[in-house]
Amino acid sequence: MQQQQERLLKVLVIGDLGVGKTSIIKRYVHQVFSQHYRATIGVDFALKVLSWDQQTVVRLQLWDIAGQERYGNMTRVYYREAVGALVVFDMTRLSTFQAVLKWKGDLDSKVALGNGRPVPAVLLANKCDQRSLGLCPKVPKLESFSQQYGFVGWYETSAKGFGWWSHTHILLLLLLRWRK
Ligand code: GDP
Ligand code: MG
Repeated sequence: MQQQQERLLKVLVIGDLGVGKTSIIKRYVHQVFSQHYRATIGVDFALKVLSWDQQTVVRLQLWDIAGQERYGNMTRVYYREAVGALVVFDMTRLSTFQAVLKWKGDLDSKVALGNGRPVPAVLLANKCDQRSLGLCPKVPKLESFSQQYGFVGWYETSAKGFGWWSHTHILLLLLLRWRK
């Protein structure tokens, strides 16, 4: 019988304070959503175990920034050996969208894949449940934006419930990149 392989994948979740990074991780890993705002302190990570194929088990390590996002950048240690990143903004706050390129720049300046290519990053427009309430300002066309700035793709998400399944897709997308 063939031996099962374990792969540890480090995926970063970055973006401004309050955009919903912790909520997205919790939703994906534990299927819960909490209304209570709690800024995390220190670096945190959550683990999701996926069976990729018969030979491979993937341990997905989701790294949460914990309170340090107020400084707008992270240390190289935080970024080290990441194979994917989710760059999150809050659809109801334009300033958090404007910060997306700063986060992408920070990522690309501090880490790259082993082959020198940039770490694949997916852009997440979070809190899309608020749009139907008319609470969202017009965000520029995300398709062309994400292509222009080298994102692997983009998704509207909501940690509150709608589209929770799309998180699975996002992460699979990252994993597929990694498998190539
Ligand atoms: P972080 O600072 O990026 O980790 O953001 P948090 O995950 O702590 O979320 C900040 C606040 O936004 C909390 O009050 C959450 O309940 C709320 N929140 C997060 N995601 C969503 C979402 O998709 N929709 C709505 N309506 N609120 C959200
Ligand atoms: Mg947080």
